[in-house]
Amino acid sequence: MSAIKEPSFRESVDLMFNRAVALMDLPPGLEEKIRVCNATYTVRFGVRLRGQIQTFTGYRSVHSEHMEPVKGGIRFAMGVNQDEVEALAALMTYKCALVEAPFGGSKGGLRIDPREYDEHELELITRRFAYELAKRDLIHPSQNVPAPDMGTGEREMAWIADQYARMNTTDINARACVTGKPLNAGGISGRVEATGRGVQYALQEFFRHPEDVAKTGLTGTLDGKRVIVQGLGNVGYHAAKFLSDEDGASIVGIIERDGALFNPAGLDVDAVYQWLVKHGGVTGYPDATHLPEGAVLLEEECDILIPAALEGVINLGNAKRIQAPLIIEAANGPITAGADDILRQKGTVIIPDMYANAGGVTVSYFEWVKNLSHIRFGRMQRRQEEARHQLVVDELEKLSKAAAIPYTLSPEFKLKYLRGAGELELVRSGLDDTMRIAYQSMREVWHTRADVEDLRTAAYLVSINKVAASYRAKGL
Ligand code: GLU
Repeated sequence: MSAIKEPSFRESVDLMFNRAVALMDLPPGLEEKIRVCNATYTVRFGVRLRGQIQTFTGYRSVHSEHMEPVKGGIRFAMGVNQDEVEALAALMTYKCALVEAPFGGSKGGLRIDPREYDEHELELITRRFAYELAKRDLIHPSQNVPAPDMGTGEREMAWIADQYARMNTTDINARACVTGKPLNAGGISGRVEATGRGVQYALQEFFRHPEDVAKTGLTGTLDGKRVIVQGLGNVGYHAAKFLSDEDGASIVGIIERDGALFNPAGLDVDAVYQWLVKHGGVTGYPDATHLPEGAVLLEEECDILIPAALEGVINLGNAKRIQAPLIIEAANGPITAGADDILRQKGTVIIPDMYANAGGVTVSYFEWVKNLSHIRFGRMQRRQEEARHQLVVDELEKLSKAAAIPYTLSPEFKLKYLRGAGELELVRSGLDDTMRIAYQSMREVWHTRADVEDLRTAAYLVSINKVAASYRAKGL
């Protein structure tokens, strides 16, 4: 370990923020107004479980209300604390601004190990936490809209939505109080895998720019690139699966709680995932070398490293030894400010968290809009679109008979062309577009400003400018 003290997660985010604002020309005071967390609410509540009252501590932090509602997940983990939720809430502000999701930033957390409780107990705890937050408008369709994060998923979001609806029986927009719900409880197609999909779209966009790829020393496309993923949770699993199944990348390493798997010939992501679900860890998985000290695999040679678990995993202790030329931060805050300095000096290209994992909140935005409009995307247009495409196909086929050189439309083309876009296709299209545009806004700053060395600083510049513009418009 290094002798230099590592800053806390929130200090780390602030240090990165400060690096960026030093290059900006913000009016005095506005810089601090944007950086600070507006409010953090701590709730302590008791739930009667197993014959006795257990007290839980939870937080909901609101970083910036330049736009409302504020948005951000709720995490269930033992490591949850005020510093962490505040750092995560700040990242939500910058993330939403960067991808133009019209929200301020917030985050919540409950200090709990969800594996210690059965489903019924978790429901009691979640509902009680939701009650505490909702009665203070910290869950509210127009004020504060939570979503899943580490340790929570569709199930918890359904409980939260139901709890809010019970407390607000006449609110026609009650379902918009939380996102990441199951489809049958007001959710949207494609939300579960959205963050992983976003990581894939981010990498696809990066590889569309040879000039940017050249900065890593890599060439070509994602095809054949060797990838190491840390954390096979919802984000890591989907990112790894899509990159290997659809882009030809080779997942050579997977790091989990109980060690890492390494196979230079590539791992079968689904097989590892099934093993993990069944055995609670990766130990014993055939077809790979198991390393009990999983974190050493972060330092292994590969093309792309995807930290998709906790914050601070790349720190002053290991940054020097990281060999990957390209890191994409699928987790929030996986690289500390000190490690970021070291990696930048080494020339490592980092696709920063506030962009890389923004797919989740982007699709949350679509879900919130769907809930407020009370209609599934594509419901009105799909068949009409199909009918118009049929007209074109019929016309082309008619013309083909009269053509000098007759032609036929291939059945695959017809199948694809005739299919009108349903909700999932529209969600993917919206997410892909969002990830492309946000990347382009960052790279423009990265390439045009000589004083901006890296994508993270560029991302901060873009998002802080947007937040500052909102504050200015409010007369602040
Ligand atoms: N928890 C996710 C994040 O960190 C999603 C937040 C949301 O959808 O509001 O971005």
